[in-house]
Amino acid sequence: MNAFRYAQARDAASAMATLAAEPSAMYVAGGTNVIDLMKEYVERPSLLVDIAQLPMRAIEPAANGLRVGSLALMSDVADHPAVVRGFPVVSQALLLSASPQLRNMATIGGNVMQRTRCAYFRDATQPCNKRAPGTGCAARGGDNRRHAVIGGSEQCICTHASDLAVALLAVDAVVHVQGRAGERAIPFERFHVLPGTTPQRETVLERGDLITAVELPASAHARGSYYLKVRDRASYEFALVSVAAAFDVRAGRIRAARVALGGVAPKPWRAHDAEAALIGRQPGAQAFAAAAQAATRGMRGYGQNDFKIALTRRAVARALAHAGDVA
Ligand SMILES: Cc1cc2nc3c(=O)[nH]c(=O)nc-3n(C[C@H](O)[C@H](O)[C@H](O)COP(=O)(O)OP(=O)(O)OC[C@H]3O[C@@H](n4cnc5c(N)ncnc54)[C@H](O)[C@@H]3O)c2cc1C
Repeated sequence: MNAFRYAQARDAASAMATLAAEPSAMYVAGGTNVIDLMKEYVERPSLLVDIAQLPMRAIEPAANGLRVGSLALMSDVADHPAVVRGFPVVSQALLLSASPQLRNMATIGGNVMQRTRCAYFRDATQPCNKRAPGTGCAARGGDNRRHAVIGGSEQCICTHASDLAVALLAVDAVVHVQGRAGERAIPFERFHVLPGTTPQRETVLERGDLITAVELPASAHARGSYYLKVRDRASYEFALVSVAAAFDVRAGRIRAARVALGGVAPKPWRAHDAEAALIGRQPGAQAFAAAAQAATRGMRGYGQNDFKIALTRRAVARALAHAGDVA
């Protein structure tokens, strides 16, 4: 780990000003991702600005649902009765993440900002366009069992690691950000970006932007949501494939549907084709199989990860069989 300085932020404005003044400064919240990466020489900040004491921890009712402060702990959000009742997919995704110790340290903002677990990204001796632009992507011809089958580019085929982020897509979450130009709200689907030719850029955030909260709009499909995580072992493991499924049924027909995928793309992936295949159908095995087929449209493997395509199909069908809010 390189030597670094440490400062506690007094308020959001001074935290943002400090980051603006020092190009290699970074925020730290729970520290469970950034400190790991510093130990591996993947992140090399000159200064860590600790935001953990800022008043952004509350989970409270909002005009149209729930507002979750960006510093709320994963464990507190997972257990909150309004989350369990209104957004089960969020609670389930969090409880299937990491370990109880980590969930007691890690925050919602830090979770959606976490970096990929690609072994080449995390090994500073390997080529990686995301960590060191222009050095190449070792995963394309290397060990790519855990890598992306959709959304990747010549430059990068990593997968996004967050479970929560997949669930947030399925409930139409909105990220609230404070930046130099004031506050703005970003629909979660537009928050992360694909690698293209700039894999070092992962979100639409500008330098110094601070996530203040994540808003969860109440809806019937959010109430009928479900998270399925398929992984190599039953706990303390990242997803090979995960599915956040949500739909609601009126008069026997699916009225609204969300299908989001984890473990398959460099960003949390919304499967719009799968959603379209569900609308207007009666919920059941036939509709779910059609959606599962549509979810994998456009996917391609790189050898070791080819299995993820069939796995996605099965996982989508199974997740949908558990989801649904029936009026
Ligand atoms: C062994 C292990 C297993 C894990 N398993 C899983 C798993 O199964 N599923 C899963 O989803 N995750 C998993 N994780 C990842 C874990 O959930 C993240 O490390 C954690 O959520 C990050 O939150 P944090 O508050 O500690 O972030 P930090 O490490 O403090 O920060 C992470 C990044 O976010 C930035 N940041 C933090 N807060 C803000 C903010 N408010 N505004 C702007 N930028 C901000 C920081 O600058 C940094 O770049 C695992 C981690 C470990 C170590």
